[in-house]
Amino acid sequence: MRTAYKCRAYPDSEQAAQLGRTFGCVRLVWNKTLDARHRRYHVEGRTISYKETDAQLAAWKRTDELAFLSEVSSVPLQQTLRHQHTAYQNFFAGRAKYPRFKNRTGKQSAHYTRSAFKLRNGQLTLAKQSTPLRFVWSWPGIDPATINPTTVIVSREPDGRWYVTFAVDTDDSEPAAPTGESIGIDLGVKDFAVLSTGETIANPKHLDRKARNLARYQRRMARKQKGSANRRKAKRKVARAHRKVRHARADFLHRTTTNLVRRADTIAIEDLNVSGMTSSARGTREQPGRNVKQKSGLNRRVLDAPLGEFRRQLEYKTTRAGKTLAVIDRWYPSSKTCSACGHLLNMLKLSTRTWTCPGCRTRHDRDVNAAKNILAAGRAVVGQQPGEACGVDVSPQGSSLRQSASKQELSGASPKGIPALQGGEAVNRLS
Ligand SMILES: [Zn+2]
Repeated sequence: MRTAYKCRAYPDSEQAAQLGRTFGCVRLVWNKTLDARHRRYHVEGRTISYKETDAQLAAWKRTDELAFLSEVSSVPLQQTLRHQHTAYQNFFAGRAKYPRFKNRTGKQSAHYTRSAFKLRNGQLTLAKQSTPLRFVWSWPGIDPATINPTTVIVSREPDGRWYVTFAVDTDDSEPAAPTGESIGIDLGVKDFAVLSTGETIANPKHLDRKARNLARYQRRMARKQKGSANRRKAKRKVARAHRKVRHARADFLHRTTTNLVRRADTIAIEDLNVSGMTSSARGTREQPGRNVKQKSGLNRRVLDAPLGEFRRQLEYKTTRAGKTLAVIDRWYPSSKTCSACGHLLNMLKLSTRTWTCPGCRTRHDRDVNAAKNILAAGRAVVGQQPGEACGVDVSPQGSSLRQSASKQELSGASPKGIPALQGGEAVNRLS
């Protein structure tokens, strides 16, 4: 299957000039070749092969007046010859109209095949360009760093907007090798997440900074008079700052989720009420007055928004990789339950970062303990024994079990799947 992702592109002035020259050369090669084909057909009554047009192009490059054709990447020029060849074949087969000449006011485009672009970590660099071409990726569900396009098409619309299109031969599922690891994730407030392995995933600092910038520009804009030129300018700055936050966040989320899915066969998370997270839902339950992050309201919103997206990415990435995402009920008292013996605390103040279990004397880091409980609960949801790594079992039954478990979760988890840890109060609350 072939998929094309078309995004807005924003070449800098140097890149735009270089691409403009490339478009000009593509147009010239198309038109000159079309002219030659045209005459050859009318005068000699025969067609020209692609090979002949390619040889013709090489000859043009050797002339003084067309030597500038060598200054742009040869790939888009050859591609335009191929397209014209196809257009002619389509015409002769009665499938299409006679190919037309291109003019400078219409849509311009240049096709780059694999040898003429580099796509690394989501950064696109075209042949003959030294800096990456900036583009806005608008598929939050797809990591631009993971796509492997066969062709990249840069185009400019008559209105001056630039686009880059990534043509990808897609393979829907890419099963990943099982790693034997399972990870529970406690999505945090202080940090982005804490894992059952004890690791912490911090909120990226640059995102914080960008969010602060955005807030500052928004305040500035609010002070400008409506309808004024200054307000328009301020508004553009806000839009830019906002886009930067979005990108930084998307980038962070994609890298984080890709990493987690690569590492673990089973991932367990809490089913968060994303919209209520900042105010009540989580706060009133386990951690009254949860207010660890002393930040502006806007900043909080900017940082909270990704949690739903985080889950969505984990869902499709685990599915794609043939791995399992277990989503456990958000009322499950993951923080207050001892992950070692199951003892359930009556209360645990938010300010308490570490605690010792009265039942088994285990000393807990609050978030790591929660993540461990989430993992245990998630394992129970997918019918996995502790210590047994999901994905190691590659029997058909095992995989169908995993699939049904994932599906069940995706369609709105049922509390029935939540395990009865010792100190059954948790379970009573759920029913
Ligand atoms: Zn305990």
